[in-house]
Amino acid sequence: MKGRTRKRTYRAVYRLLDRVSPVPFDCGAICGSVCCTAAYDDESLGIMLLPGEEKVHDRSGGWLSWESLITNEYEFPESWKGRIWFVRCKAPPHCPRNLRPIQCRTFPLTPHLDEDGELSLIFNDFDLPYVCPMIEDETELDERFVRATMTAWKHLIRDPLIYDLVWKESRDRDALNMDCR
Ligand code: SF4
Ligand code: SF4
Repeated sequence: MKGRTRKRTYRAVYRLLDRVSPVPFDCGAICGSVCCTAAYDDESLGIMLLPGEEKVHDRSGGWLSWESLITNEYEFPESWKGRIWFVRCKAPPHCPRNLRPIQCRTFPLTPHLDEDGELSLIFNDFDLPYVCPMIEDETELDERFVRATMTAWKHLIRDPLIYDLVWKESRDRDALNMDCR
């Protein structure tokens, strides 16, 4: 599936996020890097690349395994037609840091759009089969990381396909929160 985001935009976002970390220490040391390694035990886990993000990667590089998913077989936005890439690391938590996908770089935060289209960042609230201590404790994250992540998502949602994904996830979240009241 072709998004509007160019390879050079993804590269710029990667460079921006290369310079920051959620906390000023290796948070993997407190949980055994569970967000990376959980995929070893659960094959349904992995990393979904954003539309066109695959352009940044060399598929012959060998450190990721690649699977393409047919979008209409999953709960993707209606505008998503075709295939999207789902990757899994072969030797987590080890990876070329400068090639980590967006999903790894912005975790434990996730973007949320309110009904007026206002973007904010919240702790990732997807149903995960592991516990991220930073989400659990709502750890105060490095301001530079939060700022860079916000800038990254502001750029990314200019792509209508990415906007639609964040919009859908936000409405699903709102609906779930209403049900929980
Ligand atoms: S982001 Fe959370 S789950 Fe992942 S390594 Fe850091 S503390 Fe662990
Ligand atoms: S790319 Fe790196 S950070 Fe992301 S899941 Fe794989 S090992 Fe973890």
